Amino acid sequence: MSDRMEKTEQQWREQLTDEQYRVTRMKGTEPPFTGEYVDCKDDGIYRCVCCGNELFDSGTKYDSGSGWPSFFEALDDDRVRTEVDLSHGMRRVEVLCGKCDAHLGHVFDDGPHPTGKRFCINSCALNFDERGDE
Ligand code: FE
Repeated sequence: MSDRMEKTEQQWREQLTDEQYRVTRMKGTEPPFTGEYVDCKDDGIYRCVCCGNELFDSGTKYDSGSGWPSFFEALDDDRVRTEVDLSHGMRRVEVLCGKCDAHLGHVFDDGPHPTGKRFCINSCALNFDERGDE
């Protein structure tokens, strides 16, 4: 995965819903416990809603109680990239799509074994593909 996908803000705006655009292109956050994948336990792959990049496997999803879909690791290290985010008076680590730079959420160090990571991801930044659908 080294392909990049770049589009203009106008193209993203046309492709995405208002909420998807606000979260992924403007670094927004969906309200907790509202996203469609918070409690999803189905078997499959979560993709970037913007570019289709495969990001997370359902086998790494767990119930963090945060109100957002939570994963203990990305499908591969290069599927996502991170940046320090000092907004809102906090120091957090932002998670972005490695292919299209969509804002996905943040990663914290309070996750479960084996990685200790909690990728806290907005549902509306994701599209779920159930395994066996292909
Ligand atoms: Fe993407």
